[in-house]
Amino acid sequence: MSLQATTRTTAGRGRLFDSILDTVGDTPTIRINKLGVDHATIYVKAEFFNPASSVKDRLALNIIEEAERTGALKPGQTVVEATSGNTGIGLAMVCAQKGYPLVVTMADSFSVERRKLMRMLGAKVVLTPRAEKGFGMYRKAVELAEANGWFLARQFETEANADIHEATTAREIINDFAGSRLDWFVTGYGTGGTVAGVGRVLRRERPETKIVLSEPANAQLIGSGHAQERGPDGAPAVSHPAFEPHPIQGWTPDFIPYVLQEAIDSRFYDEVIPIAGAEGIKWAKALAQKEGIFTGISGGSTFAAARQIAEQAPAGSVILCILPDTGERYLTTPLFETIEAEMDEEELALSRSTPGFQFAA
Ligand code: PMP
Repeated sequence: MSLQATTRTTAGRGRLFDSILDTVGDTPTIRINKLGVDHATIYVKAEFFNPASSVKDRLALNIIEEAERTGALKPGQTVVEATSGNTGIGLAMVCAQKGYPLVVTMADSFSVERRKLMRMLGAKVVLTPRAEKGFGMYRKAVELAEANGWFLARQFETEANADIHEATTAREIINDFAGSRLDWFVTGYGTGGTVAGVGRVLRRERPETKIVLSEPANAQLIGSGHAQERGPDGAPAVSHPAFEPHPIQGWTPDFIPYVLQEAIDSRFYDEVIPIAGAEGIKWAKALAQKEGIFTGISGGSTFAAARQIAEQAPAGSVILCILPDTGERYLTTPLFETIEAEMDEEELALSRSTPGFQFAA
């Protein structure tokens, strides 16, 4: 090595992996250094370290393996699911590795890169009209499953969802914070799997930790106090009256999922904080530009809630915030609206400031 050898070395993971599926989970918990407050510490759990770059890889893997264990999914059978993106991308990764065909139904309002990522991973994507909201894409998946005898993944109702967060996400948090304070755990909800699974474990093993649930300011389904009407299988019977379209993709569908209902009924949260989409986008950009932490709009929104908690928290408090996915999933969304592809004035001035390799004016 050179005289001024680097101080950073790595040792490998100490094992060889049998498949991409064995790399799901064990995401790092990272301290915030610039965007925090002086009197408290905020950590983020960076779920974009999962192989298909989101928290939903965990659930995708468990839904398929649970169905294999129970025999609900037969070799070579087609899997179908309604998903706003990350579950579909996770399922596409798992189905590619295990050899199941996958069909995803998705409202045409979700970002184009999500469709393309699923198709790149070998899935078929059937679009549904945005006017029919999450309920429409869900009904379409049910229709296709019934018409073709396919396996419906049912992320919003299946026990495999919260169970995997109880068995992995929560265990990682318990182990990473062993011997450390943990005063608040902050998360949003899509299916509610994260809060239900982590809530079960924190209530049991870290009862002093307060749980904060966040939802879009213009779609306060929990905040409204209005109960969800359901069918016999737990699936929603109607769209929730408090829902409005919001830019925080992956958060709050137009119904209260059955998986989330466990967290509501068991009071797995101590506080609900509404966050406006613009606020989430602001913090996602700040995380990228001041911390080098590149997460999506829901990550920025969860951080916005964590930041609010930190401001009021007693000195010495420790707060953990979930960052569900990567910012690369949002190139065509409002997150990148102010990010230009062409050079701005400052960049053009730099280009002109030395003689070579300029574009003609
Ligand atoms: N953010 C994003 C980007 C997501 O895709 C999801 C999952 N739909 C969530 C947050 C919420 O996670 P959960 O479904 O576990 O509530």
